Amino acid sequence: MKRVILIKYGELSTKKGNRNFFINTLYRMIQNKLKNFDVKIYKDRSRMYIEFHDSDLDKIKSKLDCIFGIHMYHIAYIVDTNIDSIKSLLIDLVKNMNFKSFKVESKRSDKSFPIHSQELNPLLGAVVLKNKDGVVVDVHHPELLIKVEVREKYSFIYFNAYHGAGGYPLGSQPRGLLMLSGGIDSPVSGYLAMKRGVLVDCVYFEAIPHTSLEARNKVIELSRKLAKYAPDIRLHIVNFTPIQEEIYKNCSPSYCITIMRRMMYRIMEKLANKYQAYAIINGESVGQVASQTLTSMRVINEVTCMPVLRPVACFDKLEIIDLAKKIDTYDISILPYEDCCTVFVPKHPVINPSLEQAKKEEEKFDFLSLIDVAVDSVDTIVVREEEEFSDLL
Ligand code: ATP
Ligand code: MG
Repeated sequence: MKRVILIKYGELSTKKGNRNFFINTLYRMIQNKLKNFDVKIYKDRSRMYIEFHDSDLDKIKSKLDCIFGIHMYHIAYIVDTNIDSIKSLLIDLVKNMNFKSFKVESKRSDKSFPIHSQELNPLLGAVVLKNKDGVVVDVHHPELLIKVEVREKYSFIYFNAYHGAGGYPLGSQPRGLLMLSGGIDSPVSGYLAMKRGVLVDCVYFEAIPHTSLEARNKVIELSRKLAKYAPDIRLHIVNFTPIQEEIYKNCSPSYCITIMRRMMYRIMEKLANKYQAYAIINGESVGQVASQTLTSMRVINEVTCMPVLRPVACFDKLEIIDLAKKIDTYDISILPYEDCCTVFVPKHPVINPSLEQAKKEEEKFDFLSLIDVAVDSVDTIVVREEEEFSDLL
């Protein structure tokens, strides 16, 4: 009795014209994440199935759980599509199982198969009743749900269902640049953007010596958590020290954060052009801090016309924390190392900044050349899920 992993695409099925593109993107992602296993992957318009070795099953499942675009999967028994083979597999399977009541739910997607779904259920139900003593059919609360899928060449029988990661396959959208700080919100935002299919590169603004190497390592480890959902993650590290020092030397303290964030956005836009990215992604959440009031967001956002995705914009902190725990970034995020934003935080940042004033503050120093230097001197690290040490490009 041969088992395979049967994969259902879910949300992809709404994408009529693009269907093949989505399926091929998912296929490549599965191939990439399972490259260290001896598997064979087959695809058609509504299912994929994977042949695997039993001893690898748990490890393969944990990989599949992090692949966006998989809605549901089943560990299924596979058999040639003809009614006698299906019946005899079913008899062999139920023989060794312990249950008192059952229900057969079958689906015939091969329309040339002569038996309709409605006929298949009673037919296969009768097979079970005849070959298994003491069991009854219970269509409402069966102890065992027997699912049968009749497809063109092969048919599948299974008793289980595992939820996949959902969303769209990674790479079904172009690249976006995630502003990744060491905090709780930005990794969650990265995860949510990736779930919509966006290829994510991370950008970390570093202010050595005001921030430590531990803070950088924290961001690397957060990137590694995101790399579970991707082939790998590129982390671009920006030396933000000269700009930050200029801001704090020249600007009114209450406007420092506003100006700092306008500088970050300007750099993000330039980096997006450099790395062919189509959006900026960050962990801003409306009202969370002074720089995230709507007034602040407008003044800060004014420096770029790129789309800025803020996946957690309307989430409560507790909702964000729940997600951070789910994706295993929370324990890293709460490590205490200072970020460049917290090192320089003024006592009374402006809550409702004016655009006019922000522009006046920026006239106090020559930031354009500093921005170009920051963009040109970015360090890029490729972070992989399973590596202990990241390699500097
Ligand atoms: P987080 O929001 O990730 O929990 P935080 O609360 O320390 O971290 P905020 O001050 O709320 O960060 O900043 C809002 C967003 O700006 C962050 O979610 C992140 O996307 C971005 N950001 C802040 N600091 C940095 C940084 N040093 N490098 C990259 N992005 C940053
Ligand atoms: Mg935050």
